Amino acid sequence: MNKVIVIGAGIAGLATSVRLALKGYQVTVFERNAYPGGKLSAFEAEGFRFDAGPSLFTMPHFVTQLFEMANENPEQYFRYKKKDIACQYFWDDGMQFTAYANRDRFLEAIETTFGVSKEKVSNYLDRAKTKYDLTTPLFLEKSLHKLSTFLNKETIAALLRLPVFQINTSLHRANAAYFKNPRLVQLFDRFATYNGSDPYQTSGMMTLIQHLEQHYGTFIPEGGMEQITTAIYELALRQGVTFHFNSTVSEIRVEGKRTTGIVADGKQVPADLVVSNMDVFPTYHKLLQGQKAPEKQLNQERSSSAVIFYWGIRNTFPNLDLHNIFFSNNYQNEFEAIFKEQTISDDPTVYVNITSKDVPKDAPEGCENWFVMINTPADFGQDWEVLVAQLRRRVIKRLSLVLGAALESRIVTETVLTPPLIQEKTQSHRGALYGASSNNTMAAFLRHPNFSQRIKNLYFCGGSVHPGGGIPLCMLSAKIVDELITAKPNV
Ligand code: FAD
Repeated sequence: MNKVIVIGAGIAGLATSVRLALKGYQVTVFERNAYPGGKLSAFEAEGFRFDAGPSLFTMPHFVTQLFEMANENPEQYFRYKKKDIACQYFWDDGMQFTAYANRDRFLEAIETTFGVSKEKVSNYLDRAKTKYDLTTPLFLEKSLHKLSTFLNKETIAALLRLPVFQINTSLHRANAAYFKNPRLVQLFDRFATYNGSDPYQTSGMMTLIQHLEQHYGTFIPEGGMEQITTAIYELALRQGVTFHFNSTVSEIRVEGKRTTGIVADGKQVPADLVVSNMDVFPTYHKLLQGQKAPEKQLNQERSSSAVIFYWGIRNTFPNLDLHNIFFSNNYQNEFEAIFKEQTISDDPTVYVNITSKDVPKDAPEGCENWFVMINTPADFGQDWEVLVAQLRRRVIKRLSLVLGAALESRIVTETVLTPPLIQEKTQSHRGALYGASSNNTMAAFLRHPNFSQRIKNLYFCGGSVHPGGGIPLCMLSAKIVDELITAKPNV
């Protein structure tokens, strides 16, 4: 039986381990932390449960697919529900908009609130769907770095339809040209942040992210986001995957242009195949010292990072839902601060996620667990202590104003996550949430592939490599690695 070592038990590492175990490989996972999940983990503080990282769950079929592959009934191990409300949006002057999951209700609400006809918005959504349908089989579900990818009919169809992709304009320009209402433009611009990018730079292609939320819906697992990790981890155990926690890999061993295993905690561990779920930047710079690194791919602009305040809040707020956005008054300024000045604007958009709305046991009676996230630049050595102190004051001021409630006195517990802490906890280069940003139109082609072009039997999965960051794409990276490995089983 071929031995596979997976470095890291992030969501992509877990999914890869399940897939390869199902194909008959003997899989061992080495994880630096004491727990699985990487960014997708959770913690408790004074009776409140908090998901530490991802809060938005789309495309759950990428998770349930793993159980089906194992001939298990997903519902027995992983249950989730679809949200009726995708997000509540707030502006400082008291304007509020509810983004319903149901398309007709969504279109009606837009017409009533922003005065844009249902037909116009419907056409916009249809165009986003076209982009998604044309690009998914090509750019997301396969390795972009194998010749066969470019020699099929989907490729040709996609190339023929290039203008529809709007790659020659920015997401913001595409939205602003189509919708004149600046707040509706802001609302649709926001989807650039789903992969850590800037709506004023990333291409108009990115309207397809909106399609994912509107068409497929948003979901919450029973028990919160950490259930995604727990369910896949337990599935991996049932398939015979071995895990070593608190175990740091310090080297990927290479002999004669092929990997022969790793060094973990000072000991050599042989393997036929190695899959790195560690961020690709430190994989090269720490584990493959002495090997030529693909610097162009590794030095793509980082995606945004975040500061998160995990607040236990005394009181409940009926006008809030699971996902809530409190918009900045100057969106362009906010992204210039993040991507050009590498700082945080003095008027940032604030995202508040409250799982206790759907999972009541996540907070004590009469309280709520607030995950308050602000997009920030990646870590370039900024003075985070000063930035966080300023940010905290501004966030509390905005939320208190819009919600009409003095917030400071209602915070009963607080934990703070910063970009340097994200790097420390997950080894993510500069604490970026999604690896490289997609600000560059060619970003899809500049991401590192899911295999090494120089070292045989070395593969890569996770948010820092193709097809990109976020749970759905990480799950797809595992699928691509699985297909690459099983396509040439004779190692
Ligand atoms: P990671 O989670 O990055 O884990 C990598 C693992 O490798 C870690 O456990 C680390 O300890 C381990 N490791 C690293 N080096 C070594 C080593 N040398 N030896 C052993 N182990 C090692 N995505 C969404 O879809 N929706 C969201 O709402 C969302 N919000 C986010 C909010 C935050 C605050 C963050 C941080 C991320 C968010 N994301 C979101 C992005 C999403 O979390 C990531 O894209 C995804 O979880 C990355 O998974 P991964 O498999 O790449 O591994």
